[in-house]
Amino acid sequence: MTTFSPASIIDLHARLSSASRPVIVTHMKPDGDAMGSSLGMYHTIKQIYSLQAKIALANPAPGYLDFLISGDPAEHIYIHEDRPKETEEVIQDSDLIICLDFNAFHRTDTLCDILESSTADKILIDHHLSPDIEKFSLIFSQQEISSASELLFHILLQLPAMEGKASKLPIEAATALLTGMTTDTNNFANSVYPSTFEMASQLIEAGVDRNMIISKLYNRSKESRLRLQGHILKDLMKITDDGVAYVVLDKKTMNEYNVEEGDTEGFVNIPLTIDNVLMSIFIKEDNGFARVSIRSKQGTSANMCSRTYFNGGGHENAAGGRLYMPGDIASIHDAGEYIEKHTHIFMNKENE
Ligand code: 5GP
Ligand code: MN
Repeated sequence: MTTFSPASIIDLHARLSSASRPVIVTHMKPDGDAMGSSLGMYHTIKQIYSLQAKIALANPAPGYLDFLISGDPAEHIYIHEDRPKETEEVIQDSDLIICLDFNAFHRTDTLCDILESSTADKILIDHHLSPDIEKFSLIFSQQEISSASELLFHILLQLPAMEGKASKLPIEAATALLTGMTTDTNNFANSVYPSTFEMASQLIEAGVDRNMIISKLYNRSKESRLRLQGHILKDLMKITDDGVAYVVLDKKTMNEYNVEEGDTEGFVNIPLTIDNVLMSIFIKEDNGFARVSIRSKQGTSANMCSRTYFNGGGHENAAGGRLYMPGDIASIHDAGEYIEKHTHIFMNKENE
């Protein structure tokens, strides 16, 4: 069940009604849910409240989400990596900051300081554990839900102008929200609740083209992505005696396979299809650190493992984090040893 107090919806409506320069922000390296919820909000408040919001991102969205973006993106999407000064000014000048799909400002990476120092009203709509509640004036936080996009869908439908009908959403918003839910559930595989099917059913009824979304998301891979997947599964994936599968992808291999942002999306899930694998860890070399993705089966906490050993967190069965180099490990070549040692401790503690 997804419900909100009528008071919080009235509060949201009041804040949107009186805002004039809203900025929508989401987490760094935005994924489908981050972009889906941001664009869902963007198009809805444009139609209902005549608000021309700006979307501020630390980094660009991956190419496979291009179908969600209409018009000239430079007019409403500010990418800090590309336009640092303008993006900072947009946030400084804003009177309402709407935060989607993250629980604490550090998740926005390079936007963190500027968001922290803004005195604008801040709204949080998110589905992660442990939201940083003191930083927001209005919070919608729910964990028993598929995605931020789904949470936002249920919230938006409660706004007075929507009359509870998905058909009242602008079609761009409806498409973005269904996309965000689809990617965060890995196409209805994880974190799916009765409310998730209700959302999907209402959006499809309202005219969203799910076949188009599926083919845009899943049938446009580069050949090199599949070749890399083959190499990873055949040569790079290791499985420990504790039931932890892990892959360490160094820059050299990424260059060989011409890996771009988003190309390794979903790879971390594959090892969990093996019977005796309880947790899967996917590590990618970056500058000064390695990016960590963790997925686990029921009974093993990806969130706890990430918080304890990988400087991160997330959800119970899907989390992320970082290994700093140097700091945690001297170089990417030490990542395997680090993972084996620490997951051995973790898995044996977990199962005590
Ligand atoms: P992914 O592996 O897809 O990058 O992340 C999985 C989940 O963990 C996502 O919901 C993401 O928001 C969350 N997550 C990823 N990295 C971090 C992190 O460094 N800290 C926290 N708290 N959550 C993270
Ligand atoms: Mn999400």
